[in-house]
Amino acid sequence: MAKAFYITTPIYYVNASPHIGHAYTTIVADVLARFHRMEGDETFFVTGTDEHGDKIAAAAQSAGITPQEYADKISIQFRNLWPELAVANDYFIRTTDKNHVETVRSILQKVHDAGDIYFGQYEGYYCVGCERFYMEKELVEGKCPDHQTKPEYRKESNYFFRMSKYQEWLINHIKANPEFIRPERYKNEVLAFLREPLEDLCISRPKTRLEWGITLPFDDKYVTYVWFDALINYVTAIDYPAGEKFKKFWPVAEHLIAKDILKPHGIYWPTMLKAAGIEPYQHLNVHGYWNSDQSKMSKSLGNVVKPLDLKDKYGLDAFRYFLLRDMVFGLDSNFSEEAFVQRLNSDLANDLGNLVSRTITMAIKYCGGMVPKVKKEKYDKRLQDAAQKAVYDVESAFGEMALHKALIAIWEFINTTNKYIVENEPWTLGNDETNKGKLMAIMYNLLASLRAVAILIAPFMPGTSQKILHEIGAGDNQQMSLAAITKWDALTAGSTLTRGESLFPRVEKDMTEKVEIKSAVDLKPEIDYEEFARVDLRVATILAAEMVPKSNKLIKIKVDIGEERTIVAGIGKDYKPEDMVGKKIVIVANLKPAKLMGVESRGMLLATDTAEGLTVLSFDREAKTGAKIR
Ligand SMILES: [Zn+2]
Repeated sequence: MAKAFYITTPIYYVNASPHIGHAYTTIVADVLARFHRMEGDETFFVTGTDEHGDKIAAAAQSAGITPQEYADKISIQFRNLWPELAVANDYFIRTTDKNHVETVRSILQKVHDAGDIYFGQYEGYYCVGCERFYMEKELVEGKCPDHQTKPEYRKESNYFFRMSKYQEWLINHIKANPEFIRPERYKNEVLAFLREPLEDLCISRPKTRLEWGITLPFDDKYVTYVWFDALINYVTAIDYPAGEKFKKFWPVAEHLIAKDILKPHGIYWPTMLKAAGIEPYQHLNVHGYWNSDQSKMSKSLGNVVKPLDLKDKYGLDAFRYFLLRDMVFGLDSNFSEEAFVQRLNSDLANDLGNLVSRTITMAIKYCGGMVPKVKKEKYDKRLQDAAQKAVYDVESAFGEMALHKALIAIWEFINTTNKYIVENEPWTLGNDETNKGKLMAIMYNLLASLRAVAILIAPFMPGTSQKILHEIGAGDNQQMSLAAITKWDALTAGSTLTRGESLFPRVEKDMTEKVEIKSAVDLKPEIDYEEFARVDLRVATILAAEMVPKSNKLIKIKVDIGEERTIVAGIGKDYKPEDMVGKKIVIVANLKPAKLMGVESRGMLLATDTAEGLTVLSFDREAKTGAKIR
């Protein structure tokens, strides 16, 4: 039965260009939207930009343009990025759109008429970065906890929304609907916040200090506070109050946000809706942050500037796969190019890419380039069951917004199919005519499995899904739904198979180093990574050092690498023993012990020649004693 599905991303604030966090949220929303469209649900997917407020006015001023020009400039960057990431939103909203301005004003008027907006005096500490007042107890050493800046003390008359009035209602609503805010940790965070008395929300800014906003309908000397304006986009986009879309989609609204905007979405927004006589949204889905260490990234693999650039370097579907597979929804994740390349090589190039290319190559060779004709009795029960299990698991993963779990389930099926090849060894049957029936059955089962994979991955990697369907000769009218996955007879015998380009070429990890080898440096013969990995390099802290008696060159050094060691190093002409103590250096920890002038040395330090003599390798940053060096 077709259902309705409404998914929103936050509307992104136009004070900065798009980054990895925006990309992640929006791609998750896109996968959910594609999945529900595939299932035949009536789907509406909205993203957009948030364009009013202090920060935009200030940024425009410093750029020497009007706030509207500034907002136009950044908004278009977001709008243009989404197609590049294969994001297929149904609507793009801007808070400067005329219909949005009207909706905000009508809701303000409604809440005002109901007596939930009042005029009052406000004084307090105002952080421009946060665009809000802080209570003294909320400040950390007198500074904004988010911006570490000293807020200004301001005193002004403003309009307030009676948020406090809805505190009990909100607590009860959250408790009665345990999935209202999910995952659970964020529900608990909101409930913890609601244990303290809820303050009323200041929802206006006097035009004497900010003009860039929506004018209050009941006092034209004020504009609307940016959050009270922005949140309303979720109903503007579906034609609140009287539109057909609003009736259809609002009861199933799914909001998707990062955890930094939990409070406006978990507290302001439901109480605003309640005051305006609108039912609460269905679910607030909250994810964590992507932590990316840019300096680490560029150091280790060379030339990557921004995470978004990895899309151009390694391909869009690999980029989408990595984001969706690596982040456990709700928790923080680390973004690094190494992790990306590792996933690309193992999951995509090895598991999926090889499965497709092996299967197509064999099918073309053994089946005359066509889908073979095979009787139903020859359908492999185990593969069909495995496909069915993937369908169940994917469905339940989507139900709980755990997209990483959906991908794990799909890869289980891919691996079952890879095992099927290994166990049946089609290549051993290829030469003997009497095995022909068996061979055709194996090839058909593999092609049917690829079809199942193509449908399963379609919401995540739409481009790759299409390529696989094309290679296995599945027509454009292929039924794409979970229910169609286990239809093993959906491939037409005689359809042409096509060998495509490698879906995910393997990325050689030492690509950058290889480039350097072409230079004129006289190098030792190449080794592979395994050989290098046999060398155990460690961070060593020097505990004590003294000259080896009767030697003018050898220093006996006591180091700590998690255990104490003595090493002997020939650096006595370049270093004084007393200057060595406390230094952190690099040693080869698994070098066979050797005796030098009667002193046993267990390990060797690393050093290089310079014009002024030897220099011992050390660290730019604080390294941990005993840490491995890679
Ligand atoms: Zn702040």
